[in-house]
Amino acid sequence: MRVLVTGGMGYIGSHTCVQMIEAGMTPIILDNLYNSKKSVLSRIEMLTGVSPAFYEGDIRDRTFLDKVFAENKIDAVIHFAGLKAVGESVEKPLEYYDNNVHGTLVLVEAMRAAGVGSLIFSSSATVYGDPASVPIKEDFPTSATNPYGRSKLMVEECLTDIQHAYPEMSITLLRYFNPVGSHQSGLMGEDPQGIPNNLMPFISQVAVGRREFLSVFGDDYPTVDGTGVRDYIHVLDLADGHLAALTHKGSEAGLHIYNLGTGNGFSVLQMIDAFSKAAGVEVAYQVVSRRPGDIAECWADPAKAKEELHWQATRTIDDMTADTWRWQSSNPDGYPDL
Ligand code: NAD
Ligand code: UDP
Repeated sequence: MRVLVTGGMGYIGSHTCVQMIEAGMTPIILDNLYNSKKSVLSRIEMLTGVSPAFYEGDIRDRTFLDKVFAENKIDAVIHFAGLKAVGESVEKPLEYYDNNVHGTLVLVEAMRAAGVGSLIFSSSATVYGDPASVPIKEDFPTSATNPYGRSKLMVEECLTDIQHAYPEMSITLLRYFNPVGSHQSGLMGEDPQGIPNNLMPFISQVAVGRREFLSVFGDDYPTVDGTGVRDYIHVLDLADGHLAALTHKGSEAGLHIYNLGTGNGFSVLQMIDAFSKAAGVEVAYQVVSRRPGDIAECWADPAKAKEELHWQATRTIDDMTADTWRWQSSNPDGYPDL
C-alpha cells in the first residue's frame, strides 16, 4: 500500500513511517520542514534500510500537491501536517486556521482530483474540551477553548460534511491523547524547536541539563495529588494505531472516529517520578500557578479502537520514560542540522 504521509518528518509522522515500512507499506513523505529537520530521513533509513520518497513543500500549494499525486500511485493519505502549539495559536490564529483548516481543504481537493478517497486525519483529545466525566468516549460532546483546538474541531466538521457529500470516501478521525516516548533504538524522538510546551520534552530537557527546572502548572486540582492527570501514550503505539486504522477502515467507505489512548491517567508528579527512575537523575521542579485553559484530568476510553481496529496500546509508562531518556541522552540537542 502506497500512502502519502503529510507531516511525515515530524514527531508522530516519522515514527509512523518506520512502523509502516516495517509492516511492508510504502510511505511517501510530504513536509515543508517548518517544524522538523531533513536528517529525520536518514534516521528512518538507518532504522528500516529504506529511504522513503520525500517531497519538500506545503500542503497549501495545490500545484505542488497535484505533482506529488501525479508522480505516485497513492492509495491513501495520512494527514499529520499542521501547527500544534496551543499558546502560539492564541497569538497567531490566522496562521493556525490557514495551515490547519485551509491546508486540509486544499489537500482534500487534490485528493479528489487525483481519485484518492481514503484519508486518516490527526485529531486530538482537545476536541472534547473540559469533559464532564472520564474516561472519554467518542460520542462525548465536543468543544474548543483555543484556536488550535478550534482548528481541529473545524477540520473534523469539514471532513464530516465532505464524507457526507462524497459517501464513497473513507475518512478516519483519530483523536490522540498525549503522545510521548521515542523509538526504542534512541535514534528517533521528539525534537521541539525552542522552549517545549509539553510536559515530557520539558522533563527530559531538565534531566539532560538543558533547562534548570520544570514548572508544575498547579497542584490544587481535584486529582490524586493535585496535579493534572493525562493519558500518556507511547508514540509507537500511536503509530501502530494508524496502521490498524488503514488496515481495518482505510478501504471502508464512511466516517470513522476513534480515541487513541491507553485508558490510564498519570499525574504530573507521577510522570516526574517515573522519569527520574528511568533516567537515574533527579528532575528539579517548582510548583507554579495553573496554566490558563488546562483541565484537571483527561483519559480515554479506548474500547472502540480495540473492538473495531483490533488495536490497543501495549507499552507502559516505564517504556515511555526509558525510551524518551535513551533518545534525549544520546541526542541532547535533538536531530543534527544537515
Ligand atoms: P510535528 O510538528 O512534529 O509534525 C508536524 C509536521 O508537519 C512537521 O514536520 C512540520 O514541518 C509539518 N508541517 C506543518 N505545516 C505544514 C504544511 N503546511 N505543509 C507541509 N508540512 C507541514 O507534530 P506532531 O507532534 O508529529 O503532530 C502531528 C499531528 O498530530 C499534528 O496535526 C498535531 O496537531 C496532531 N496532534 C499532536 C499531538 C501531540 O501532542 N504531539 C496531540 C494531538 C494531535
Ligand atoms: N505541564 C506542566 N508543566 C509543563 C508542561 C505541562 O505542569 O511545563 C502539565 C500540564 O498542566 C498538564 C500536563 O502537564 O497537566 C500535560 O501537559 P501537556 O502540555 O504535555 O499536554 P496537554 O495540556 O495537551 O494535555
